[in-house]
Amino acid sequence: MTYKKLLLFCLSLTLMTTGCSTLNGPSEAEINAEAAKAYNEVKSKSKISHNPEWNAMVQRVAKRIAASSGENFNWEYILIESPEVNAWCMPGGKIAVYTGIMPVLKTEGALAAVLGHEVAHATLRHGKAGYQRAIKGNMAGMLIGGAAVIGGQLLCKNSTCRTLTGLGGAAAGLAVTFFQRKYGRDDETQADKYGQIYMARAGYDPAEAIVLWDRMSAGKQGAAPPEFMSTHPSDTQRKANLRGWLSEAEQVYQQAPQKYGTGEKI
Ligand SMILES: [Zn+2]
Repeated sequence: MTYKKLLLFCLSLTLMTTGCSTLNGPSEAEINAEAAKAYNEVKSKSKISHNPEWNAMVQRVAKRIAASSGENFNWEYILIESPEVNAWCMPGGKIAVYTGIMPVLKTEGALAAVLGHEVAHATLRHGKAGYQRAIKGNMAGMLIGGAAVIGGQLLCKNSTCRTLTGLGGAAAGLAVTFFQRKYGRDDETQADKYGQIYMARAGYDPAEAIVLWDRMSAGKQGAAPPEFMSTHPSDTQRKANLRGWLSEAEQVYQQAPQKYGTGEKI
């Protein structure tokens, strides 16, 4: 069987399996448990940064954003040593920041904006149906198995996803779905809005969420853009939205018990 045929076979098997599944998806606790497994795999297979200043910054910003979200997740935060310009938050509050994004951000406040956006996807349960399908049908697990057999790891577009090919079962399904996901326009807009509120409540100047876009555009390189650089809505529209929401976010910022402005420089 050729590689292509094998992959097609895996795909059709996936469609059959998911097509026959019942409508009752896995619970949120199950989704979070599989996400935690995938996160542990990322932790054990990635190089964790030892940069003391950046680690301290990621810890304090992530903690403040987590607290301001009001969500009772089992939060975890890591800083991964990697040139990737990236950051994410898995379902259940498992956060990672890549060292490659730090110089692009330029300020602690911009990091708060990025984490606000990523945490909002998790607290708003974006992509939940996709994770349920992946776990229930175990589809990406099968696909990743097929891809591993042919040695191509064809499904993964970034190195984090590729580190997860050893994962089996439902956790693999969740991981591939998470790392290959594309949220819809409405989800992105909602994450931008909530993210700006979260950062303001955490004590960071919400205007920094607007400036962040210019820095990210300037820092955009050949590599796959991070999730929050999603092409929909457009950069222009997102900046306009953030400007429109700014006065509301500023009111929230004024009520924050502690204010850090744009925080420390990076
Ligand atoms: Zn997003």
